[in-house]
Amino acid sequence: MNRAHNFYAGPAVLPFEVIEETRDAVYDFNNLGVSIMEISHRDKAFDVVIQEAQSDLLNIMKLPKEEYYVLFLGGGASTQFAMVPYNFLLNEADYIETGYWSERAVKEAKITGKTNVIATAKETNFNHIPKNFNITPNADYVHITSNNTIYGTEWKKWPETGNVPLVVDHSSDFLALNHNFSKASLIYAGAQKNVGPAGVTIVIVKKSWVEEKSRKEGYTMLKYKTHIDKESLYNTPPVLPIYVVHRTLKWIIKQGGLEAIEANNIKKASLIYDLFDAYPEFFVGAVKVKEDRSLMNVTWNLPTPELESKFIDEAKKLKMLGLKGHRAVGGIRASIYNACPLSSVEALTKFMEEFHKNNK
Ligand SMILES: *Cc1c(COP(=O)(O)O)cnc(C)c1O
Repeated sequence: MNRAHNFYAGPAVLPFEVIEETRDAVYDFNNLGVSIMEISHRDKAFDVVIQEAQSDLLNIMKLPKEEYYVLFLGGGASTQFAMVPYNFLLNEADYIETGYWSERAVKEAKITGKTNVIATAKETNFNHIPKNFNITPNADYVHITSNNTIYGTEWKKWPETGNVPLVVDHSSDFLALNHNFSKASLIYAGAQKNVGPAGVTIVIVKKSWVEEKSRKEGYTMLKYKTHIDKESLYNTPPVLPIYVVHRTLKWIIKQGGLEAIEANNIKKASLIYDLFDAYPEFFVGAVKVKEDRSLMNVTWNLPTPELESKFIDEAKKLKMLGLKGHRAVGGIRASIYNACPLSSVEALTKFMEEFHKNNK
């Protein structure tokens, strides 16, 4: 197959070997004579998949399995915007607003209880990560969005929050950087940006926090406790997406884990950002603080909207897909997730050089 250069923001590029493995499992899973879509989620063969996915994930993140639970849930990251406060917002919670998805998280928290937006970058169109803020003493938690998919900013280091638990919407840079994950009490991520197809959301949560603080009464499906007690099998989980995540985790391990993944991501992103620095009048980066530039979603403008349309059209002819910026901000966005090959980024920067020469 002739693979396109895939720069979609999500659902997004996956390792090709994972696509091949999934094709085979959809056809005949483990030589059982049935598709992965046709077996019970309680079958032994699937149990191996979900158990391995949990333990591989904690190993990749260097989190001890005695201290953290891993859940595979439906409903997308958007359901976590409500589930986090439903389970943990008892008095008040702090939110740092860094873009469209943070705003949505704030909106759901406000429905539940007292919500403090302790910092926002809204007045500068989210062109940086605000780093001056005061955490409310005794807040139930602080919520951040680790990577802002639409605006192209990223927390390269997560904040220190002292005694207040840190909650991270990690959807769009999940397993892209070698963080100290033990800083967080709860991490959630929709799979479709960096580790799988749409349909499964991964939640990693500190056991002690759930046991001591989370809601024990209320809607069954909305309590973390329900899914923990039944090991993500309270109801039917998204079996096929979990299988794809399982294969992607194996791929990450094969690449050399997060050290190797991070190094590769820095290398890829630098190729594009170097062009912003070389031609700042032509490739106008949307992010104004260099250290906040996302390694996953690179956002920029050209001198006119006409040139932007021309850029996207010409790129498409070279099989470069998904470069149009989000409708909320316009411009151009190249999403270069873990599985985006270096060769695709090189093809893009070569095209950018030529486009600059022909249109400056
Ligand atoms: C895409 C995205 C979401 C929404 O995910 P869904 O799975 O579509 O609900 C939330 N947060 C971030 C940072 C995202 O990039």
